[in-house]
Amino acid sequence: SQAAFRTDLSVLLDQVGTGKESLSFMKRRIRRLAQQWATAANRLDAKLEQQWRDQKKILVHVGFLTEESGDVFSPKVLKGGPLGEMVQWADILTALHVLGHNLKISMSPPTTHGPFEVKYTDILIIFFCHFLCRCHIRVIDTFGTEPAYNHEEYATLHGYRTNWGYWNLNARQYMTMFPHTPDNSFMGFVSEELNETEKRSIQQNKVNNMAVVYGKEASMWKQGKESFLQILHKYMEVHGTVYYETQRPPEVPAFVKNHGLLPQHELQQLLRKAKLFIGFGFPYEGPAPLEAIANGCIFLQPKFNPPHSSLNHEFFRGKPTSREVFSQHPYAEQYIGRPHVMTVDYNNSVEFDSAIKEIMRTKVEPYLPYEYTCEGMLERVHAYIQHQVSVGSAGGSRMMGPLFVPLPNTTALGWASSVTAPSAWPPLSSLRLLVSQEGQSCVDACQSAGFICEPAHFRFINNKEALLDVQCEVVDSEINHILPAFSVVRQECGLQREPLLFSCAGHSPKYRRLCPCRDFRHGQVALCRDCL
Ligand code: UDP
Repeated sequence: SQAAFRTDLSVLLDQVGTGKESLSFMKRRIRRLAQQWATAANRLDAKLEQQWRDQKKILVHVGFLTEESGDVFSPKVLKGGPLGEMVQWADILTALHVLGHNLKISMSPPTTHGPFEVKYTDILIIFFCHFLCRCHIRVIDTFGTEPAYNHEEYATLHGYRTNWGYWNLNARQYMTMFPHTPDNSFMGFVSEELNETEKRSIQQNKVNNMAVVYGKEASMWKQGKESFLQILHKYMEVHGTVYYETQRPPEVPAFVKNHGLLPQHELQQLLRKAKLFIGFGFPYEGPAPLEAIANGCIFLQPKFNPPHSSLNHEFFRGKPTSREVFSQHPYAEQYIGRPHVMTVDYNNSVEFDSAIKEIMRTKVEPYLPYEYTCEGMLERVHAYIQHQVSVGSAGGSRMMGPLFVPLPNTTALGWASSVTAPSAWPPLSSLRLLVSQEGQSCVDACQSAGFICEPAHFRFINNKEALLDVQCEVVDSEINHILPAFSVVRQECGLQREPLLFSCAGHSPKYRRLCPCRDFRHGQVALCRDCL
């Protein structure tokens, strides 16, 4: 049947249940944002102009909240532990409810799900229609999983095996918190949006010399922060929201006004007054900087040189990604940037000093990228649910079979627009074939041309026709996550034999890759122009 938008959240609130601090946190958030969701639902409803939306049966299994997993989150909710996951889960549940789907929320072991066989993992969400198969699973995966780590046999043979991943899913079944790994799908979360009156009043009440530090756990203030904190303190009044039990945490200098961990709406009020929200390098890629920017703060964060990754940093070690993180919040740096975001070298006191002065005299407006508004999240989740249902595991992509692709010109864009594949989503009209530099990944190749790598399009460019402009002595078909690609020196071309290993992230020094890029909507990178 047809899904109808819901603006009343009371049924959802009942479904979430009670008895745990994490659930109370999520419910407080759902209530606080209820009006925003309702407005967003009405707007999207109008925008979609009666487009048919299938109502799906959706099972959401919040694995990390089950007793069986130890429920590590609840005890930490009031103590400064990670809240980002809770924020995201609250928003996912709300989005699915508002979109009008038939939701079942489960926080107990999957044996209670009657006839359904659920592959049990720590954190997963499952969309299913008539029967449960692997292709209907969606895994909520904050930092992402690259294809090379996801393919069990390949990961084991080539040193990509970690404690996570290797579930042999289609990498688009992993859904991330930020759009950092185009091999995965970007799920996201929302931040509060302000109306014009609120924006004006915020700008009038900004305190130019007020800074709030990003870091609710005392450990985030440890070591090496004194020098730049001193500089900051020279110009500004420094506030913190560091959790403490009875005594002031010794890591937090005496000149800092510590408010203790605040409820979300009180943090919001603090951010409305503050001019600067300053990161110390940890936590990575959380929601708080977006909230700060949405409340008219400038976010100042450290540049990482060399970049942090699973090779050199404890936090990323063992995570199924080769991604290199060049600052505390790469999304803020790349997608938002100046004047809202400044990324500087904290070890350079001159640079740091002048950044603070610049921030104090810069006027900024509250800003929230569309993809982080309620409407943006609803639009994206709507598109995934309606179009991505058959993402398919290996079988799905193999079934596509050979497809005629007209002769490409590797430098010219747009050659593929005449290809027709009616069932493709994103539609083929969005495909732009590019060739990367030697050693460059498709993530970077597409990005430098103003596009984004689209793993769903690999199957259309994994053929000899796409290699036409390349002088190949041999064309081999192999299992390797950098394929399709070619070696310039050896004039060897390689096609991909294992669809699960199509990877935007892959790169290799001597190879130039064939890259399936696509266009994207301004403020909604997950969707191409014709994707709705
Ligand atoms: N937060 C809060 N009170 C505070 C500090 C943070 O409620 O005093 C909330 C904040 O609004 C954000 C969430 O905690 O939505 C997650 O914050 P963070 O960016 O630190 O990410 P995490 O590391 O917790 O995932």
